[in-house]
Amino acid sequence: MKCTYILFLVICLSLHAAAQQPQWCKKLPRPAYAKLERVPVADSWFEVYKIRPGVFAIYEPHQLEEVISYLIIGSNRALLFDTGMGISNIKAVVETLTRLSVSVLNSHTHNDHVGDNWRFDDIYGMDTDFTRANARGSKQDAQAELAPGELCGSLPKGFDAEAYATKPFHITHWLHDGDAIDLGGRTLKVIATPGHTPDAIALLDTQNGLLFTGDSFYLGPIYLYRPETDLDAYVSSMQRLAALVPRVQLLLPSHNLPVADPSYLPKVVTAIQRVRQGEVKAISTDGKHEYVFGDFSFLMQ
Ligand SMILES: [Zn+2]
Repeated sequence: MKCTYILFLVICLSLHAAAQQPQWCKKLPRPAYAKLERVPVADSWFEVYKIRPGVFAIYEPHQLEEVISYLIIGSNRALLFDTGMGISNIKAVVETLTRLSVSVLNSHTHNDHVGDNWRFDDIYGMDTDFTRANARGSKQDAQAELAPGELCGSLPKGFDAEAYATKPFHITHWLHDGDAIDLGGRTLKVIATPGHTPDAIALLDTQNGLLFTGDSFYLGPIYLYRPETDLDAYVSSMQRLAALVPRVQLLLPSHNLPVADPSYLPKVVTAIQRVRQGEVKAISTDGKHEYVFGDFSFLMQ
């Protein structure tokens, strides 16, 4: 009798826990991850995948942004392209993946990409006022990431939710469009892609045909609704990226999935132009309009 009661209680509790899960969380893991090479790491806040030799995706699946940072390794040094949410310690994870010195560069300075910048000494930044303002840190955007429905599973042990903020960080080198970063045996070209933010960039690894697209393109709803977004600039930037397609084998975006086919880029250009010409009907929720094109969409004001 007692046994039956305990069993009933266990079932009830697990059903309750499942009901508490937000909708996006119930769909995880994304099936495409099963085909990627997972690298075990001690910190369960992160999942690490080896995408190519010397290229690791560091994914944070327990928060709605599902942000992805990339560790790109050369023969002399390594570059961490974004530092994630700052909810757990990405530096400790990176140190288990390489012994080389690591510099940081951000795809742009929204809070979900610069969260652990403060832990690093060598940081590249785009020479824009937007970058300078965000390097001062802030609490509001960080706190919004912990709102109901934003988390999937538990926060890391010892994480202080009330104190959670984007800590200020110090930029040691200023970058401009066209600059190159030499890691030894691997050179990354900085491509300014303003639009999503004024300081958005893509990184091109020409030798290996890799294009890190930041938030300019990923599979999922692409955020184009914030006040710092410039749609004219976004269209030009996407045209610029689409022109690189013949030289690119793989896109490595900053959210949801770390691999996408380059053939998406010209589709994004056509799609955003159609939206701006009023040819596409939106799905409207919470004062935002979503224009859906299969695997990607635009979320706009
Ligand atoms: Zn962003």
